[in-house]
Amino acid sequence: MYSIDLAGKTGLVMGVTNRRSIAWQIAEPLAQAGARLAFSYQGERLRPTLEKLTEKLDRPLLAECDVANDADLDELFATLRAEFGRLDFVVHAVAYAPKETFAEPFRKVRRDDWRTAMDVSAYSLVAVADRAAELMDEGGAIVTLSYLAAERVVPHYNMMGVAKAALEASVRYLAYDLGPAGVRVNALSAGPVRTVAARSIAGFGDMYGEAGRLSMMKRNITGEEVGRMGFALVTDLSGGVTGETVYVDAGFHAIGMFLDEPGEDPAT
Ligand code: NAP
Repeated sequence: MYSIDLAGKTGLVMGVTNRRSIAWQIAEPLAQAGARLAFSYQGERLRPTLEKLTEKLDRPLLAECDVANDADLDELFATLRAEFGRLDFVVHAVAYAPKETFAEPFRKVRRDDWRTAMDVSAYSLVAVADRAAELMDEGGAIVTLSYLAAERVVPHYNMMGVAKAALEASVRYLAYDLGPAGVRVNALSAGPVRTVAARSIAGFGDMYGEAGRLSMMKRNITGEEVGRMGFALVTDLSGGVTGETVYVDAGFHAIGMFLDEPGEDPAT
């Protein structure tokens, strides 16, 4: 049995709203393996939930940070430097696009909404990776969360799909920049998981049902499955993997045609 001990390792986890959050699903096994974690959250309203979730962890660090704000990011990384001294990994599980962008046709996207979605959902990874790499003096790993709408049209996803495309391209450029320093950067493309962010997408319920029904494995994935792959992508389990988008979607992304019944001939 292969086991991994993360005692002495430190990581930053961004984007925990509650225990269903993908960031928390990844954080839990990392903490169980012994890593010391910092959690950044967007607004003070999230702090009580985070305090409760993390009360049994080893000296968790909680820090407010709006990723659209450079001063917040500078302060967060100054705190990490002061408290941890160095950093081994980052889990970036943060995204936002205004609600209307999911409800209206893509062609109606407003300039400000485009900017907001790109800033929070794609640029933030670049801003975080640059600051994090300075603390990764022994190499490290960064994982961000993506979705298939980055490369295929998924109805309703619209602006967020465009932002995820920019995010996945950013992963490759960051991986190239930071590879010589031993810092790996990857995207984890997850199938639908019921979270707060997912609920803000018009039609998510239908998408969730169809993704499970049509996937190769004929089921939806679980948050724990995403958590375990996130764990792998920020630890030595994935050594040598960088610039990659890894799917945890029960095979949905790799299907080229959907038939109602397996084996049915589309020509008849
Ligand atoms: P979630 O629990 O709602 O997490 C999203 C997090 O992003 C929240 O903590 C949210 O904070 C935070 N955030 C938004 N704007 C921010 C800002 N300006 N500064 C700092 N934090 C900000 O939902 P989730 O589904 O776990 O989402 C995590 C990641 O997984 C996202 O990148 C999402 O696109 C991706 N993903 C999700 C699914 C899915 O089906 N759930 C599938 C594939 C990929 P607030 O609560 O304050 O808004």
